[in-house]
Amino acid sequence: MQRIETLCVQGGYAPKSGEPRQLPIIQSTTFKYDTSQEMALLFNLEKSGYFYSRLQNPTCDNVAAKIAQLEGGTAAMLTGSGQAASFLSTFNICTNGSHMICAAEIYGGTFNLFAHTMNRMGIETTFVPVNCSDDELQAAFRPNTKLIFGETLSNPSLSVLDIERFAAVAHRNGVPLIVDNTFATPVNCRPIEWGADIVTHSTTKYMDGHGATLGGVVVDSGRFDWMAHRDRFPGLTTPDATYHGLVYAERFGLAGAYITKMVAQLMRDLGCVQSPQSAFILNLGLESLHLRMARHCENATRVARFLADHPKTSYVKYPSLPGDPHHALARKYLPNGSCGVVSFGVAGGRDAAERWMAGLKRCAIATHVSDARTCVLHPASTTHRQMTDRELTDAGIRPDFIRLSVGIENAEDLLEDLEQAFAGV
Ligand code: PLP
Repeated sequence: MQRIETLCVQGGYAPKSGEPRQLPIIQSTTFKYDTSQEMALLFNLEKSGYFYSRLQNPTCDNVAAKIAQLEGGTAAMLTGSGQAASFLSTFNICTNGSHMICAAEIYGGTFNLFAHTMNRMGIETTFVPVNCSDDELQAAFRPNTKLIFGETLSNPSLSVLDIERFAAVAHRNGVPLIVDNTFATPVNCRPIEWGADIVTHSTTKYMDGHGATLGGVVVDSGRFDWMAHRDRFPGLTTPDATYHGLVYAERFGLAGAYITKMVAQLMRDLGCVQSPQSAFILNLGLESLHLRMARHCENATRVARFLADHPKTSYVKYPSLPGDPHHALARKYLPNGSCGVVSFGVAGGRDAAERWMAGLKRCAIATHVSDARTCVLHPASTTHRQMTDRELTDAGIRPDFIRLSVGIENAEDLLEDLEQAFAGV
């Protein structure tokens, strides 16, 4: 078995003798066949192969294969964005009338998707505190519950999901645990090793790492036994009329059923694909993921310590820092480092936070996170600026809250920039 660094560089694409060393971009919507019969086998899912890039494309498949290897899964599918990955990973096993359980500390876009958009489709979600007890988690279950969803490291609150515990409760109830591993990446945590069944990413973040291309991915562990719970997951265990009555779990088994259904049915119908150009750029990012993550974590740890000791900050949240409420979980699940994102408050509240932001010279103000370049967001003066301090607090966002995404620049240069901005507060 190859180690994570080697998989980052050499996983996925494996050229044969005389083929290009770098992953080729197959910029083609369609694939040519000599006879209709050959293509019919593909349409029937009797043979695997390519016929139209809305379903599968070789460039995208090679990158998906690399990410499956990195996460220790059996199969993966790229999507056009992280949002599409969150949607397809859940919608693949939910339908009108289903129920999901989700950790409440979650990316705002995922919250909107589950609480509003999927709710309008008849899929209800119960949000539970990420620190809830097993009994509280159990109490959220209903007869129609299909899954539990959470983030390894929540965006932006940086709480650590107790993956092993959530997986145990999910499995006791016969449902899979889906983990969004965007912030940790497989370099720092591999949720499947702790019992997660399905892993998702916004590859827009550290995996691409350069703010160059939007994307997402869904990885299947191949371990969840759909047939053992056949009544709960009819989409996988009963005939699909659009493929002449094929039953995914029977035909493709544990290793392939979930992703094959997602590609052959959901991607076919919804079309939220990643382009081969984007997959190529993503692959370049993946080649240095292990090096960048180490540097992001090293720099963020220095920044977090600096902020924790600074007289002009009101609090710092970084799970790798001793004293953080999630430090024990971080030591268990993220022993080599958590991520490059640090959350903190500027003493003096909303105005002080705005003045501090205005003084920054090297750290860019951007809604992005997890980029090679340091970027910073003050929700109260940007994404949530219409809200009063009271409304912000009710929404769980302190008026002084800053999300700092520490990049891979020289740490001294970053600390100097942060310090000179504090001088203006
Ligand atoms: N999941 C997490 C943890 C995120 O931070 C984001 C975006 O910030 C998403 C999913 C959605 O990803 P995208 O912006 O690629 O659609």
